[in-house]
Amino acid sequence: MPRLSEVIAALDALWPAELAESWDAVGTVCGDPDAEVSRVLFAVDPVQDIVDEAVKLGAQLLVTHHPLYLRGTTTVSAGTFKGRVVHDLIKNDVALHVAHTNADRADPGVSDALAGALDLRIVRPLVPDPADAHGRRGLGRICELEHPLTLRELAARAAERLPATAQGIRVAGDPEQIVRTLAVSGGSGDSLFDDVRASGVDAFLTADLRHHPVSEARAQTPLALLDAAHWATEWPWCELAAAQLDQISDRHGWGLRVHVSKTVTDPWTAHAASTTDTTGAPN
Ligand SMILES: [Zn+2]
Repeated sequence: MPRLSEVIAALDALWPAELAESWDAVGTVCGDPDAEVSRVLFAVDPVQDIVDEAVKLGAQLLVTHHPLYLRGTTTVSAGTFKGRVVHDLIKNDVALHVAHTNADRADPGVSDALAGALDLRIVRPLVPDPADAHGRRGLGRICELEHPLTLRELAARAAERLPATAQGIRVAGDPEQIVRTLAVSGGSGDSLFDDVRASGVDAFLTADLRHHPVSEARAQTPLALLDAAHWATEWPWCELAAAQLDQISDRHGWGLRVHVSKTVTDPWTAHAASTTDTTGAPN
């Protein structure tokens, strides 16, 4: 059985910490480097439901995409919800390790997993990492569809292939527009609009898109936009990451049991379709 330090070293090789943004907080949040690991759980969010799941599963390591503390803290009191997470993890001998923007930039990374879930052919990173001579690391991915789809069909594919959420997929653009090329970025992608426009793709699929950036992008180009729930765009990475760790475990004869949480931690829980027409008048 491997020690936590050995498993973490393998994860750090997949998603080197130096690939992370300077504002990010990646790496091991809690855990004893000498503790033995036999079971690992991957999830997007280090929230209480996921910690409870890890404890119930008997995992010694929880790997999440999102950091627990992004901006630092002066307390881990169990009276705070994040402090409660820390207490429950330590009391139950569960380590927490975070791979965030380092996993976004890695090859393969979060957007590769998103593209894979939609059966897209990856062309190159949307924002390449200048340090990568192979041209495969970076933020977002430019992709091609094997067979062109209408925007409506592409949205239907995303709704079908990504895990179900209350939001589903929001679309900006003509539903009959033909899409041959698109950019994808797991998580909040509106900071990438300039790069998406410069790439000349037909569509951009990401999450957390806001009124003004979308409105401005639509006014300047025929770029179609697809907005999925943040959690849903990053969840495919958990499956990719788990498969990568499984392979490493096989290679080393570690015998790890690697799990992916299916708990939906998207904070939005319901959706009501509008009952007024586009003029705002009730139907
Ligand atoms: Zn995210």
